[in-house]
Amino acid sequence: MIVAMQPNATEEQIQDVVARMIEIGFNVHKTTGTVQTILAGVGTPSQFDVKDFDELAGVAEAVRISSPYKLAGRGFRPEGTVITFPNGVKVGGEEVVAMAGPCSVESREQIFLAAEQVKAAGAKFLRGGAYKPRSSPYSFQGMGVEGLKLLREVGDKTGLLIITEVMEISQIEVMLPYIDCFQVGARNMQNFNLLRELGKVRKPVLLKRGIAATIEELLLSAEYILAGGNYDVMLCERGIRTYETYTRNTMDISAIPVIHHLSHLPIIADPSHGTGKRAMVPAMARASVAAGADGLIIEVHPNPDKAVSDGAQTLFPEQFEKLMNELRIIAPAVGRTIAPAPVNAPEPAVVA
Ligand code: PEP
Ligand code: MN
Repeated sequence: MIVAMQPNATEEQIQDVVARMIEIGFNVHKTTGTVQTILAGVGTPSQFDVKDFDELAGVAEAVRISSPYKLAGRGFRPEGTVITFPNGVKVGGEEVVAMAGPCSVESREQIFLAAEQVKAAGAKFLRGGAYKPRSSPYSFQGMGVEGLKLLREVGDKTGLLIITEVMEISQIEVMLPYIDCFQVGARNMQNFNLLRELGKVRKPVLLKRGIAATIEELLLSAEYILAGGNYDVMLCERGIRTYETYTRNTMDISAIPVIHHLSHLPIIADPSHGTGKRAMVPAMARASVAAGADGLIIEVHPNPDKAVSDGAQTLFPEQFEKLMNELRIIAPAVGRTIAPAPVNAPEPAVVA
């Protein structure tokens, strides 16, 4: 059940409603918006009449929510979630935010160069996996803590926020001092124990859609994190497995407006994993922004042909720069802003 309080409801009235909700067996999550307070009752009390709540002093409206994801549902925060990072970057606001960098952290030279290049094009986050979920156990598995240290160092040097994948519970503590945002990969979208633990931390999480997950399943997975009290969750459409084989996955652009309709959480599009092919990435990135994505996460490498993972879907720095310039035309057309190209940005270097 969602109880929207009247804009002028007193603290005493709010507390009264909270007490009534607890009394009948709800777990109450309170969110204080700029205009009104919303109380979300989570749980399944056997007997209650939503109309009784409508009558309580200070209540504007009480609605019984039948959707199984109460905290992730739009009704919990009708105005939408905006996540503010320590350097002031906001995700879910007016600005479309670019996250870019290599699939994997490979070396000091590679990640420092990649960071300079994506920053020069207007990215706000540096991505790069230090722990890599690979389909084959014989493939490169990531640099681990050494990779995390490099990410932190380059993040501090450039001012880019660091987003990187967490694969298991034991990595959470290790990662906390080095990163700005956890990424939960497609393969772990339904690792419920991991999601529960991420609900206890106070750092944002980007949750990727599983390769065969429905939107409802994605939202239910987000619910695990929110239920722990961590409300800073972004969702990510990264393509799903269909019968099509030309592309690595089928990028579900429709998931973007559907998620905006169903949920208040920001939605980020990943056209790199969504297509698996470098040539298709810019078109899907443009389409994602046109469809209302709050951000993009894109693989960019100083020399993609030499990347240890996902080279085929990784953009050259010049391609990323060109894409960002195209997005600077599209974003305003759909009522959004995007970072202007930094003035006096150094020419992105290209590694031969
Ligand atoms: C990645 O971002 O490099 C990655 C492994 O993504 P996904 O979990 O979407 O496959
Ligand atoms: Mn990748």
